[in-house]
Amino acid sequence: MIYLDMDAFYASVEQRDHPHLRGRPTLVTHKTDDPYASNRGAVIAVSYEARRRGIRGPSSVLEVKRRLGPDAAFVRSDFEKYLAICRQIYRICEHYGPTEAASVDEFYLEVADPRGRFGFELFAAAELKRRVHEELDLPASVGVGYSKRSAKVAAESVKPRGLAEAKSPEHFVEQFGREPVTVVQGIANPLARHLATLGIYTIADLARADPLPLVKKFGVNGWSLSRAGRGHGGGKLEPGFKRRRVRSVGHSLTMRGVSDVTQIERALLGLADGVAKRLRRQHRSGRAVTTWINFDRKFSKLGRASAPQPVVLAEPIYRLACRTLHRYEHLADRYPVTGLGISISGLSTGIQLSFGGDRELRLAFACDEIERRFGKSAVKRSALKDWRRDFQAAPGTEVG
Ligand SMILES: [Mg+2]
Repeated sequence: MIYLDMDAFYASVEQRDHPHLRGRPTLVTHKTDDPYASNRGAVIAVSYEARRRGIRGPSSVLEVKRRLGPDAAFVRSDFEKYLAICRQIYRICEHYGPTEAASVDEFYLEVADPRGRFGFELFAAAELKRRVHEELDLPASVGVGYSKRSAKVAAESVKPRGLAEAKSPEHFVEQFGREPVTVVQGIANPLARHLATLGIYTIADLARADPLPLVKKFGVNGWSLSRAGRGHGGGKLEPGFKRRRVRSVGHSLTMRGVSDVTQIERALLGLADGVAKRLRRQHRSGRAVTTWINFDRKFSKLGRASAPQPVVLAEPIYRLACRTLHRYEHLADRYPVTGLGISISGLSTGIQLSFGGDRELRLAFACDEIERRFGKSAVKRSALKDWRRDFQAAPGTEVG
């Protein structure tokens, strides 16, 4: 199995297409943001130069400006371009064997040498990496392994521009045993903390661990965890572009430290309104509302609440979001709120009129229609008359 992962994909593409960005810490923002005109907005991808300067992942424009000052080079994202490049990479991979596009910049492929020559896979992997670089002028890292998981961990460990191979589970543990368990896809920090209570910190710890306590603690997932320590798992190759299912629809915003609860509520209403509109536009409804509140850029609180019935209107979403806010609002005095987000999951397709009370739903659809025809400012909730002027919300969709 070969795994190809583009290095800092969006940022690398922009540096390729805009020579003045090369060598500079490059930050890709949402298409709708104007980072040079305003500090509001979200950074969705960062180049290696920016990572070396301490910007590790998604961040806010303000935060980046604070850390990098005038060195920060911003550029707006262009997803259609990234998708077109994804197809180009896919076509190069396909040349070597059946290929699965696991995301816009990650590919798994299986190559087989009809003559079964030793080392053929590694040879093909090196060749693939070189071709992507030559034809598209983009950096990538490549891993070779005996499973999706082992190939991915191998590539992660040599980023950027690396090539590594895991020949067998023994070789895997020998090479990557010292890496923290979080390099394994699917082991995020909360799970890593649980593992730490069992004395498991690294891949080697996981490989050595007795599977029984893992199974006791994590159920069936315990088995796959234990296998993951030896580089097994990750699933079968599913050639093609996966038809991705939208898992959640959300909006978020950053704000300049606000302690006034009424103002925060208003921002939540604006977010709920935006999320509800998007749900209706996509003919979806959702049940679970997750609300994220960031306090003074120091820590975040998350609250999840489920509606008894699927929702498509702003009000029920807003009410559930407020529950989370009211649980944590006492913190806002000491730690002014600097970020808010609402996302809806538990999605299903189709909207039934019974969801929100006939009248409200018809009204919402009517307003959507007016907005579609006459523009965004044609209809506004009176509570949100000048909302857009205060905050800029960035839409986000999680697919998987
Ligand atoms: Mg990547």
